Amino acid sequence: MSNYNVTVIGGGPGGYVAAIRLAQLGMKVAIIEKYDVLGGTCLNVGCIPSKALLDVSEHYHNAEKRFTDFGIGVKGLSVDFGRMIARKGEVVKANVDGIAFLMKKNKIDVYNGLGSFVTKNKIAITNKAGEKQEIETEKVIIATGSKPTALPFLPIDKKRIITSTEALSLTEIPKNLIIIGAGIIGLELGSVYHRLGSKVTVVEFLDKVAPSMDEDLSRELLRVLKKDGIEFMLSTKVKGATVKGKEVTVTADNKAGEAIEIKGDYCLVAVGRSPYTQGLGLENIGITLDERKRIPVNDHLETSVPGIYAIGDVVRGAMLAHKAEEEGVLAAEIIAGQKPHINYNLIPGVCYTWPEAASVGATEQDLKSQGKAYKTGKVSFKASGRARASGDTDGFVKILADKETDEILGVHMIGPRAADMIIEGVVAMEFRASAEDISRMSHPHPTYTEAFKEACLSATDNRSLTM
Ligand code: FAD
Ligand code: NAD
Repeated sequence: MSNYNVTVIGGGPGGYVAAIRLAQLGMKVAIIEKYDVLGGTCLNVGCIPSKALLDVSEHYHNAEKRFTDFGIGVKGLSVDFGRMIARKGEVVKANVDGIAFLMKKNKIDVYNGLGSFVTKNKIAITNKAGEKQEIETEKVIIATGSKPTALPFLPIDKKRIITSTEALSLTEIPKNLIIIGAGIIGLELGSVYHRLGSKVTVVEFLDKVAPSMDEDLSRELLRVLKKDGIEFMLSTKVKGATVKGKEVTVTADNKAGEAIEIKGDYCLVAVGRSPYTQGLGLENIGITLDERKRIPVNDHLETSVPGIYAIGDVVRGAMLAHKAEEEGVLAAEIIAGQKPHINYNLIPGVCYTWPEAASVGATEQDLKSQGKAYKTGKVSFKASGRARASGDTDGFVKILADKETDEILGVHMIGPRAADMIIEGVVAMEFRASAEDISRMSHPHPTYTEAFKEACLSATDNRSLTM
């Protein structure tokens, strides 16, 4: 029987990053992954494949809708959807192969099979053929992630009523795609298929889209996506769905409380994700789940059982790959006796629609509910020379700063390349910059980042210079 200092269960961005950091810190490490490949949700059926389809569908959308305006003629434009999906598979494979290489490089033993606690120091691994082996370990990091949440009254058949996993590998472009949930998955995958020609209808229980984001951002996102042609049915309560042949009928109560039917050829259920602990044998070591089926952990990410840690989507907090990665590093360093820290307030969130929406820190509604005195600086991309040049004038940058001290408390942006720009807000907040600090830093001209500087100027003393 093999012996390890630490065994990581789950090969997603939480698990593989934890394993690498543990190996760097000199430990003998095993990683157990249920599937044949590492990478977890993020690399196989999440971040990477969705961005591959978002990027290519955006190229197509631009060629179809915007190139003529730019003076570029396009003849015979068409979509080879099979090739798009195949290319997405190639992108996934390149990333997944990269992780396999990193495991070898760091001398981490990879076991493919379901990991299950026999005792807190003994893990059973059952492979696809049903063969079982056991390994011994001093400590364990659980990184088993999450899976799509199903609605109890709306069974997913994976053919017509699908989750994000199937939506990333369809064999045809839906004609009428119904999406339940206007969260990040609904908006991103809705954008993909809308650009490729599907009629997309998003049905949302609440009265807004991307409800966790700053309300200004959520309103602007709704405005631009509606302008683009995606249909939204907000404040609408889904009651069920039936499939007849190739047709799906979703039944719901609309805002006025009237019973309605929505028909499509596919229905994507995107109402959140649930922590995944099935088959892990937590009952054998006395770990009980919280009310949302997450594994409870303390500030050191240690569970109620000493020496057993848990990270990523399976514990509290945002279900984001970069959050899982930070926690992987933290757990590894805690195990090595170091004193790392994560500032959860500074984990940015991004929605990869176009324009992109990105946030870090407090939203305006957070500050209001905390009773905190704040000021706002907001500038529109309409006033940005760079945005006019590229034809991307929708959106804005908004910063929230402490009314007394001028410290930046939140940054919310919707606009071109917001996903890449939000890091300026993260760095500023990490170093507790004031809006004036940023407004006095030279930003290259012309870039989209000037909007961040101008928003800071506007918050400092309402004196934006060029916007
Ligand atoms: P996971 O990535 O879910 O990995 C867990 C792994 O554990 C899985 O491979 C699973 O098979 C394995 N496992 C489970 N149980 C066992 C067991 N008992 N034994 C062995 N192995 C087991 N986040 C972002 O930050 N940016 C994005 O752009 C983004 N896009 C997304 C798009 C989609 C469509 C989806 C669905 C998610 C997206 N996410 C994104 C969220 C991101 O994928 C997750 O937050 C992230 O993958 C969580 O990492 P994790 O390591 O905790 O878990
Ligand atoms: P989400 O929590 O972002 O959104 C779910 C939406 O569904 C919410 O707006 C909610 O109000 C709505 N909803 C819930 N029940 C409903 C019902 N019965 N009828 C109608 N609407 C209903 O969840 P998601 O979009 O499924 O994404 C899952 C997780 O994956 C999220 O935590 C997200 O952060 C993560 N993710 C991140 C990215 C990214 O970082 N770009 C991309 C995709 C997914």
